Amino acid sequence: MQRHAPSLYAATANPFPGQPQLRGEESADVVVVGGGFTGLSAALHAAEAGYSVILLEGARIGWGASGRNGGQLIPGMRWGAADLAAKFGDDRARQLVSIANSACDMVRGRIARHGIACDLRAGHFYAAAKPGHLDDMRRELEVLERLLGYASARIVEPGETQAYVASPLYHGGYFDAAGGHFHPLNYALGLAQAALDAGVRIFEDSAVTAMDHAAPVLAMTAEGRVTARHGVLACDTLMGTLDPALGRITMPVANYNVATAPLSPDRAAALIPSGAAVSDSKFVLNYYRLSAENRLVFGGGEKYSPRPPADAAAFVRPYLEQVFPQLAGVKIDYAWGGLVGVTLNRLPHFGRIGNSFFAHGWSGHGALLTTLAGSLIAEAMQGHAEKFDLFANLPTRPFPGGPLLRHPLYVLGMLWYALRDRL
Ligand SMILES: Cc1cc2nc3c(=O)[nH]c(=O)nc-3n(C[C@H](O)[C@H](O)[C@H](O)COP(=O)(O)OP(=O)(O)OC[C@H]3O[C@@H](n4cnc5c(N)ncnc54)[C@H](O)[C@@H]3O)c2cc1C
Repeated sequence: MQRHAPSLYAATANPFPGQPQLRGEESADVVVVGGGFTGLSAALHAAEAGYSVILLEGARIGWGASGRNGGQLIPGMRWGAADLAAKFGDDRARQLVSIANSACDMVRGRIARHGIACDLRAGHFYAAAKPGHLDDMRRELEVLERLLGYASARIVEPGETQAYVASPLYHGGYFDAAGGHFHPLNYALGLAQAALDAGVRIFEDSAVTAMDHAAPVLAMTAEGRVTARHGVLACDTLMGTLDPALGRITMPVANYNVATAPLSPDRAAALIPSGAAVSDSKFVLNYYRLSAENRLVFGGGEKYSPRPPADAAAFVRPYLEQVFPQLAGVKIDYAWGGLVGVTLNRLPHFGRIGNSFFAHGWSGHGALLTTLAGSLIAEAMQGHAEKFDLFANLPTRPFPGGPLLRHPLYVLGMLWYALRDRL
C-alpha cells in the first residue's frame, strides 16, 4: 500500500488501521472520491444524515494536501471581506464571510466531539510585510466589523509586532483569536475514524479511474465498481484525471514545508511569543507555527516547474532564515512538499455534474473551508442547497492557454508577482 509522504506529520501520525482495497461490486447511497478533508467531511456529514456511504481513496487517507499542509487555520476565504464586498456587494459578502467563518467552530466542534488528538492551538497572526499592507488590514477589519460585528480580530501596531513574532520583517499585522493551527494529518485520520464510526465504508489504494455521473452514479477502480445515488468529487489537484474540464479550473503549485529539530521551550517561546500560527502578506507568502514538540514548521517559496527541488530543505531554508535570522544554520529534521490547487481568481470552485457534487480550488486556504464544504455538500444532497449554491455561484474561469500553454502562462504571471514582493 502507498505510504504517506515522509514528513513530520507521517512520523507523528496517530494509529489508524489500513482500510481494504475495493474489489468487486458495491452499492451505497453516496460514493465519495477522495480521502482528504473535503471527502472525509462530506462522507461523515452524509452518514450522519442517514445515508449509506462509500469513500474511495486512491492512496491513503490524508495522502494529499490534507496530510501535508502548514496546519494554519485561517478564518474566512482567500479573498478578504473587503474584496468580497467590493466585488459582490455587502449582502452577498456578509453571507459568504459568515458561512466561511462558521468553519472555525465546525472544525473545533469536530475535534472536541470526536476527541481528535491533533494538537489544536488558538490564534492566527497575519503579519504585514509592507507598511501599506497594514493599511489594507485596517480596512479589512473595518469591513468585517461593519458587515458582521466581527470581534475576534484586532490590529497589531508596528511597535507591538515583536510580542507576536520575533522577526525583523514585519510592520504590524492583525491577530485573530478565532484562527489557530493543528496537526493536519491527525485531523484527517480523526475525521476518518469518526466516519468509520458513523458507518462509512472506506477503501484505500482504490483510485477511481472513470466515473459516470448519470443515475445511478458509477465509480470504477481497477478492481471494482460502486454504484450510488449521489457522487462526490473531492480530489482537489487531481480532479483533472477524472474530469478534464474541472482539471482546467485549477493549477497545481508545488509548495514545500520544513520542520526544524525541536527548539528549547525558551527559544521557541521567544520566536513566536503569541504561540499563534503566522502567515505574512507577501504574494509568495511565508507561513509558520510551532509544533507540539516546539519544532518550527515553516512553509515558504513556491515552485512553478513540475520538477521538485533536489533538496526541499535547502529550497525552503533561505525563506526561513530571512524571517528568522536568529535561526541561521538551524537543524532541519523533515522537509516535504505538496500540491496546492489554485484557481485563476483564488476563489474556491463548487458545483454539480449530473448527480455528483464537487468542491476544489482552495488556493492555499483549505484547512478550514474543506470541512465546511463537506457539510454543505451533504446538505445539498438532502435538498438544502442554499449555502452550497452561494459558493457554486461564485465566478470562475479555466486557466487560459489550453493544456500546453496554460502552465507557462501561469508561471510568467506568478514570477511577476514574486518579483513585486522584492520591490
Ligand atoms: C504544502 C501545503 C501547505 C498548505 N498549507 C495550508 C495551510 O496552512 N492552511 C490552509 O488553509 N491550507 C493549506 N493548504 C491547502 C490545503 O491543504 C488544501 O486546500 C486542502 O487540504 C484540500 O483538501 P481536499 O480534501 O480538497 O484535497 P486533498 O487533501 O488533496 O485530498 C484529495 C484526495 O483525493 C485523492 N484522490 C485524487 N484522485 C483520486 C481518484 N481518482 N480516486 C481516488 N482518490 C483520489 C488523493 O489521493 C487525495 O488523498 C496547503 C497545501 C499544501 C500542499
